[in-house]
Formats: sequence, structure tokens, C-alpha cells
Amino acid sequence: MNDDSPLSCSQDDFSLSVLPMPLSRIVTTSWDDGDVTDLRIAALLRDRKLAGTFYVPIAGHHRSGVMGARELITLRTAGFEIGAHGTSHLTLPTCNREQLTREVEFCKKHLEDLLGDPVRMFAYPRGKYTNMVIQAVKRAGYAGARTTQMLVQNLAFDPYRMPTTVHVYPHSPSVYVRNAIRAADFAGAWKYLMRLRHAGSWVELSKVLFDLTLRRGGIWHLYGHSWEVDELQLWDDLEEILDYVSGRADVLYLPNAAALDMLPSQKSHLPCNDVCPSEK
Ligand SMILES: [Zn+2]
Repeated sequence: MNDDSPLSCSQDDFSLSVLPMPLSRIVTTSWDDGDVTDLRIAALLRDRKLAGTFYVPIAGHHRSGVMGARELITLRTAGFEIGAHGTSHLTLPTCNREQLTREVEFCKKHLEDLLGDPVRMFAYPRGKYTNMVIQAVKRAGYAGARTTQMLVQNLAFDPYRMPTTVHVYPHSPSVYVRNAIRAADFAGAWKYLMRLRHAGSWVELSKVLFDLTLRRGGIWHLYGHSWEVDELQLWDDLEEILDYVSGRADVLYLPNAAALDMLPSQKSHLPCNDVCPSEK
């Protein structure tokens, strides 16, 4: 999966075998773990009219300050999407069938009862999933699920393997390559090695990939963890990239589920690696 597919109709890679299609340019963001610091992220997004999906486990994760009902309702009322992130943030491929069902179904029902809205999206805790996990997510009634695959801008993906473009984290180059290879995205690994590894910081990489999305169409998906942004003091960098991508003409700013609605209808045809990239 890469941005050189027929859905990317740039001047330089257009061929006679591919009919030109209207370019969709989508910006979406997603934020995992339900930490109370998500409210600070939401304020940054709101100030720039950016959309976001907040993936929330029911039991707390990482830090004690997980959002409660009031905070979640505040986010939803402000127009952000709430997605599920497991009942207790278990690594799903390690669960037996009963645990798996509880992890993907209870959190959906709990959030829907709380919010009074359908919860359409799921994010795999630690980015780990198998075919069995995907089947459980489908049975639970989700419209799609987000992975932690990075560097993807192409809109032709399986909704239950929704990739991202950039993680708010100063990864080393080898992490990007390993992440793509684990997702069987060998073209993505090659693209990174040949064209992107000199971008430097994650902020510069984000800008380069956003500029490519503007030129070729596709999706630019930023994901992260507010607690991590806080621990690593990445707030200034985050504001820089949010400023860079906001307020652009001809760009749709959508939460994750609405971005999936823009996908060409398709059945999954992508190779399934048994266990997919982890969050880092
Ligand atoms: Zn998580």
C-alpha cells in the first residue's frame, strides 16, 4: 500500500491505463487511551477547526487520569468522535474468545449508552490484531478499526485495517521501516528509505507527507497519545504541525468514521499479517 497506486492521480505518475479521478484530500486525527490530557488536544484541534477521534478504553490505561462520563460528553458535544479502545486495553490477540468478545463489545455498548450515539470506530490496543480479532470487531457492529501502521496516504485500504500517516512521536528511521514491513507494506518501507528518511524530525516528515497528500490526493492521518505528548513535551511541535495542516482549501477535515465513508467501496484484498505493528 503506498501513494503510488491508481488512486493517486498526480501528473508525474499518471499512466494511460489509469483514468483520472477527482482528488479527495482528507485530514483526520486520532488520539488513544482516554487520558484526561485529551482535553488539551481537543482544545488545540477546536481552535484550528480540525477533526479528531478519541479512542477510549473503559478501564484506565497508563495513567490514573482517564476521562470520565462528563469529559467524554463534553468532547462529543464539541463535535469530536468517540471510538472504542477495548474494555480494559488488553492486547487482543492474547485473549480467548470470551475475553475478546467482552473487550470489543462491552466497550461499544458502554460508550453508546453513555453518549446516546452509535460508536462506529475501534482502535486495536497496541495496534495488535489478527483475523480472529477483526471478525470479532465486525460482529460487534463497528464500521471500521484503526491500526498503528504509519506512512500511508492512499485511500484504498480495508476499513478494518485503517492505517495512519504519522505518529506524534520522535521515532528513529528504523522504526518506520519495521512498522511498514510488519504491515506487509514493502512499497511503503521502500518509499521511506528512498524519499522520506532524510526528512529529519517527525514534524518535517509530517509536513512532507501532508504536501504529498495535497498534490496527489489521499488521506493524512495523524495519531498520538496525549499523555505521551505531555511526557515528552511535544506540545510546541504538535501545534506547529496542526497549524501547518489546518485551514487549507479543498481539504476535508473529518473524524475517522467519516473518513472511512469516503473510501471507494471495496472488499478486503490486502495481505493479512498475523500480528500488526505495535504503537511504537
Ligand atoms: Zn492504547
